[in-house]
Amino acid sequence: MISKPLVIATASDLAGKVRGKAFPLSELESRLKKGVGWCPTNVMINCFDTIGDTPFGALGDLLLIPDPDTNVELDFEDGGPVERLMQGDITDLEGKPWGLCTRSILKAALERLKAVGGVSLLSAFEHEFQFKTGSDMPGEAYTLAGFTDRRAFGETLMAALENCGLEPDTFMTEFGPKQYEVTIGPKKGVSAADSAVILREVTRMTAKRLGEEVTFTPIRDPDSVGNGVHIHMSFLDEASNPATYDENGVAGMSTLTGSFIAGILKYLDSIVAITAPSDISYLRLTPRRWSAAFNNVGFRDREASVRICPVTARDPTSIARQFNFEYRAADATASPHLALAAILHAGAQGIEDSLPTPSVTEEDLAVLPVYELEERGFVRLPETLEQALLRFENNKTVCGWFPDEFAAVYIAHKRGELAYLHDKDAAARCAAYEDVY
Ligand code: GLU
Ligand code: MG
Repeated sequence: MISKPLVIATASDLAGKVRGKAFPLSELESRLKKGVGWCPTNVMINCFDTIGDTPFGALGDLLLIPDPDTNVELDFEDGGPVERLMQGDITDLEGKPWGLCTRSILKAALERLKAVGGVSLLSAFEHEFQFKTGSDMPGEAYTLAGFTDRRAFGETLMAALENCGLEPDTFMTEFGPKQYEVTIGPKKGVSAADSAVILREVTRMTAKRLGEEVTFTPIRDPDSVGNGVHIHMSFLDEASNPATYDENGVAGMSTLTGSFIAGILKYLDSIVAITAPSDISYLRLTPRRWSAAFNNVGFRDREASVRICPVTARDPTSIARQFNFEYRAADATASPHLALAAILHAGAQGIEDSLPTPSVTEEDLAVLPVYELEERGFVRLPETLEQALLRFENNKTVCGWFPDEFAAVYIAHKRGELAYLHDKDAAARCAAYEDVY
């Protein structure tokens, strides 16, 4: 069959969807300069393909400029087409970043972190997902049999990720029905979020090439476990030395880390609308699901919103290099760029305000009476997306971290998504999300 190779320029948008336009590979050089045309109202297309109350209508023009640093050229060597994609930034026709470009929003957050903390970010997104195809295999949580069942998939996926410039770390059978987890090595700055996009899309592509189907939806069944996205973070100072750890700090946190995490905890209830942005995200963010339900930092505690992760090293220099913490109140309905930007702004605010290092929890907060939670400063995270959106909308500090037009458009987008679900019960909502993520 004749074929003219195409490259697709993409952006991860407010719906956490990866949308774009393709052009012939032979035009790459000129497209790296002039990009492809893009339309403002596209940002209002929610995950169900309905368009909320768009402030843009049919008006306006934008450019999506592919960034060659994100180039993916993936040949599965199965006789199918080579996948070629490049993520990019959305700008106006003069080349100025568009206020709703998630990648530009993340770049601004990274710059703020550098300005207030003198550090750059190293991060890695850990993903859980479930197969929609194949038999249920009950009783196979974490088992060899569960792994063997998908070894071929795992090995193809790892090769594919490596070909895309990611560093394969682990692949395992998780606890839920046909649930798996894949982890990759950390990357600096914006490329960590770019890598999360690649990981999700390449996982889907791999499944398809093997005749399977996967979903990253936050939860498939209200009575079962969720699919989390855990965002691991650590800092490097200007000389690229680790700056996250202090052996004398609370649970090993440096002063900077302590203030950063304190900022996340302070603003957490107002940023979950961005990091866990679907209606059913709030079925997952409930106690006893090993996700996140309160604004606490836990020491090696998998129920905490922020968790200080374990290290295997023994000597202080290696510990400092391994030391990291993870944000657990995120899922794959969020754009990785936007989720990371919200977390970084909250942390940067904590550094700017010199918030004291929070004390760490090593207990089940769900059993504490309300007065004790209040006394100790713990807040139950919003229990619905609508509640979460209200917290975001009413928090002027948080809205102020983003470009002027962002908050109103984001909220309108999400309210459009909720309108689509209005007559559906929890099971139907789960089914709707698993169809699209
Ligand atoms: N599935 C859990 C979540 O929704 C995470 C389980 C774990 O890996 O600790 O975040
Ligand atoms: Mg897991």
